[in-house]
Amino acid sequence: MLAELQNVTKYYQQPGSSVRNQVLSEISLQIAENERIAIVGPSGSGKSTLLNILGTLDQPSSGKVLLNGDLIEIMPETKLAEIRNTLIGFVFQMHHLLPQLTLFENVMLPHLPHKDKTKLAAAAKERALKLIDRVGLSGQMHQYPSQLSVGECQRTAIIRALINKPQLLLADEPTGSLDASNAEKLAALLAELNREQNVAMVIVTHSMELAAKMDKIYLLREGRLVISK
Ligand code: ADP
Ligand code: MG
Repeated sequence: MLAELQNVTKYYQQPGSSVRNQVLSEISLQIAENERIAIVGPSGSGKSTLLNILGTLDQPSSGKVLLNGDLIEIMPETKLAEIRNTLIGFVFQMHHLLPQLTLFENVMLPHLPHKDKTKLAAAAKERALKLIDRVGLSGQMHQYPSQLSVGECQRTAIIRALINKPQLLLADEPTGSLDASNAEKLAALLAELNREQNVAMVIVTHSMELAAKMDKIYLLREGRLVISK
């Protein structure tokens, strides 16, 4: 199994307070290679928390997270950071592109930790150029985020997340800042990239149209995950 949550519970507690806000209750989820999963649910239901735990950006209060069969809680932070950088790609609602870098430089950014290896850098550059062309942005490659539309920035964020050939793409409301027509295009692109790049996807979304393009849809409600497709 590519990624797995086993009985994951998460609560938040303010320091010095005895009140616990339990967000996730005993959640189990399995993600196979190349699988496409949508997670829908009301605002505040814990979707981002779930995605962050899956992406090792946050830890469960109890329960287990496994990536490629390895239990992540017993890994040192350096190993975790390496996994995060090579196995997982992240896309957020706001694109988080760096304003002082061009589109091309933003796409290459996750590759920088490997920059000492010249051969790898050449391969990554070639891959970046291919991905930029794939999403129709070759003409804007040397422009800065402020010169791009929101939809173009979001496409850039998606290929940036794919530059290190991750096995798992985690996207938190990736169409949330787009108008209906751009959201629809981005949803179609994500579905195509899943096939072309052999990448599994877990997408948190309010868009039923995007959710419908995934293999499975889960509803997160009152801390529990229920399959609805
Ligand atoms: P969603 O993404 O579905 O809108 P979130 O995962 O962001 O939901 O939040 C779920 C609940 O957890 C909310 O009640 C939110 O206030 C709370 N929460 C999220 N992050 C934190 C945090 N870092 N500290 C305390 N409470 C948090
Ligand atoms: Mg959220």
